[in-house]
Amino acid sequence: MDALTHTRPDKTLRSPAELADAGLLPRERVPALAPVAARYAVAVTPAMAALIDPADPLDPIARQLLPTEAELAPGPSESADPIGDDVHSPVPGVVHRYPDRALLKVTHACAVYCRFCFRRESVGPGAEALSAEALEAALAYIAVRPEIWEVILTGGDPLVLSPRRLRATMVRLGAIPHVKVVRIHTRLPIADPARITGPLVAAMGASGKTTYVALHANHPRELTPAVRAACSRIVDAGLPMLGQSVLLAGVNDDASTLAALMRAFVETRIKPYYLHHPDLPPGSGHFRVSLAEGQALMRALRGRLSGLCQPTYVLDIPGGHGKVPVGPSYLAPEQPLADLDACVQVKDPWGQAHAYPPVGPLNPSATR
Ligand code: SF4
Repeated sequence: MDALTHTRPDKTLRSPAELADAGLLPRERVPALAPVAARYAVAVTPAMAALIDPADPLDPIARQLLPTEAELAPGPSESADPIGDDVHSPVPGVVHRYPDRALLKVTHACAVYCRFCFRRESVGPGAEALSAEALEAALAYIAVRPEIWEVILTGGDPLVLSPRRLRATMVRLGAIPHVKVVRIHTRLPIADPARITGPLVAAMGASGKTTYVALHANHPRELTPAVRAACSRIVDAGLPMLGQSVLLAGVNDDASTLAALMRAFVETRIKPYYLHHPDLPPGSGHFRVSLAEGQALMRALRGRLSGLCQPTYVLDIPGGHGKVPVGPSYLAPEQPLADLDACVQVKDPWGQAHAYPPVGPLNPSATR
């Protein structure tokens, strides 16, 4: 294979041939990757292409975005709907899994297509947005359920909508009295920071509501100066930001990389929120890590990073049974935690056990 030469493309690359033209793939791999791209959407923006070192076979950005033949070899536990969205979807575009919050999937399009995406069977350029009628039905569903306190705009990536369309949706959500918080899940500030314009940022707000913006990033190299500036435009507008990451083999499954990522978030005024254990979409086995590895990494973060930098490590239980923290626990299992006369063993972040002393009977007249 000839050495790859890499030039920053001037447009989003949407096929193996275009990736090869840009020097990101060896041309001889194009025929083998054509069926992968026909099955799962491909898009690599110029900003993300510029982050890839094609001479590095282990490049963590390339691993997230460039198609591979392994994607057409689904594993036995993998599913087209790995977190069970469908069983909680009462109307198209809405997922209502927990009483107080609902997802509103306003578009199926993204600026880039991640090879590990848990919604890879439903995202892509084919079905781009909810129809006007479907959006009306989705908003009507939310409007008559006063228990819905928070609406999470997701997709796809809601920020690929034009400012006009995003604003129209936010105005409608702003008119629903019981919706107090709107959370926007996005990868756009990473994928194309120049698109975080003043009009788009202005469209993210909803009158009388609090908007949070949750940014999906998986490697510290993604938080470039341009990305940090884009996020500053959001935060400076008064919209708090959260960080969401997926634990991915070969991308961020080592403590140094995760620590640098979490610090980069916090330096950018983004509070790390979730570190997701990888879901089980088809053809994603090469990204998998074990829960034991994930817990060990979380222990390592606890020992070396400020509390501000700590995400919660979570697993979405397949089948739609919800998201739960998966440790690690610092208490030895099978301990008499309810017994106030018992000593409890607590491990510090470096694995050393310590005794937490018996606290004795509670004084019922004591006040806190
Ligand atoms: S940006 Fe999000 S929704 Fe879009 S492909 Fe990546 S993980 Fe999936």
